Amino acid sequence: MQLIDTHCHLTFGQLADDVDQVIARSITAGVNSWITVGTDPDQNQKAIALTKKFDNMYAAIGIHPHDAKDATDQAIRQLNALAQNKKVVAIGETGLDFHYDHSPRDRQADVFAKHLELAGELDLPIIIHSREAFDETMKILERHGIGVNKIVFHCFSGSPEQAKIVLDAGYYISFTGVVTFRNAERTRQAAALVPPERLMLETDCPYMSPEPMRKQRINEPALMFHTAKFLAELKAMQLPDFAAAVTATSKSFFNLPD
Ligand SMILES: [Zn+2]
Ligand SMILES: [Zn+2]
Repeated sequence: MQLIDTHCHLTFGQLADDVDQVIARSITAGVNSWITVGTDPDQNQKAIALTKKFDNMYAAIGIHPHDAKDATDQAIRQLNALAQNKKVVAIGETGLDFHYDHSPRDRQADVFAKHLELAGELDLPIIIHSREAFDETMKILERHGIGVNKIVFHCFSGSPEQAKIVLDAGYYISFTGVVTFRNAERTRQAAALVPPERLMLETDCPYMSPEPMRKQRINEPALMFHTAKFLAELKAMQLPDFAAAVTATSKSFFNLPD
């Protein structure tokens, strides 16, 4: 079995300190490819540097909506330069987070639009972070996302109705361990609607360990096995078939080699 963790933060704190062991455990669990996601200029550089250590590791680069307040024009230009690196396979994460509001909303929207422009120019897929901002996210995508070929909503926890809107727009949906949480019935109903051709898996580690490992404080790619198993059961598919289908989706979305 081959699984791809399409959204992890392997350069963050304790994961970075223990990365060789983290990757060894991941491979043992069948998760043998990773997209490590940068969130600010420093993390973007670290993400690219880390991909040089591991064959099947790739990077996405962007400025998280939390950090949009610090995203200067120069930081955006630097994304363009860093994206020339072969291991950079996507722009993001970018989007809107109206839950925490760490950056002013108009600033988040502006930086999000700039990421979309850049992804279009570079012909790279884009990873969207959208929290309590669904309608506003869709509005910005309609206005600025036309030139972007492939768009994924990461860590999706929206309603079935919202999932349908995302699918109808031609976008992809990625699920974390949140889908396994007891109180996540709405997310499960959404997941049931998403065909494997449009579905991807991620840990978003170090956050949000899936059940039955939710007590593990620092999530890591190996634990994505549990999310895969859970979703295969939800879809009444055999795990190897489900894994093969979503891995094919992820490879084609991020243009990864076979
Ligand atoms: Zn996110
Ligand atoms: Zn993330």
